[in-house]
Amino acid sequence: MNEHSLDAQCHICRRKFETKTQFREHYELEHAHDAVKCIFCKSTFENPLDMDTQRWEEVHSHIYGEILYSRLAEYEEKNVG
Ligand SMILES: [Zn+2]
Ligand SMILES: [Zn+2]
Repeated sequence: MNEHSLDAQCHICRRKFETKTQFREHYELEHAHDAVKCIFCKSTFENPLDMDTQRWEEVHSHIYGEILYSRLAEYEEKNVG
């Protein structure tokens, strides 16, 4: 597997993305002048065109963390007897 499913969402138009590349390209094309934001905690990153690959990696691992936490919470809710 080259790319994990990201399952991240654009905070502006609510589109969902399965890969990091799609997520990045979407911001660079559609929202080049808006800062990238985390839809979960509203953390703000730089404008898409100002970010290098390493900064994008930080954004992705941030969002991965949020998704993992929310899935874990869901899972625990379902299993509370
Ligand atoms: Zn968007
Ligand atoms: Zn966040």
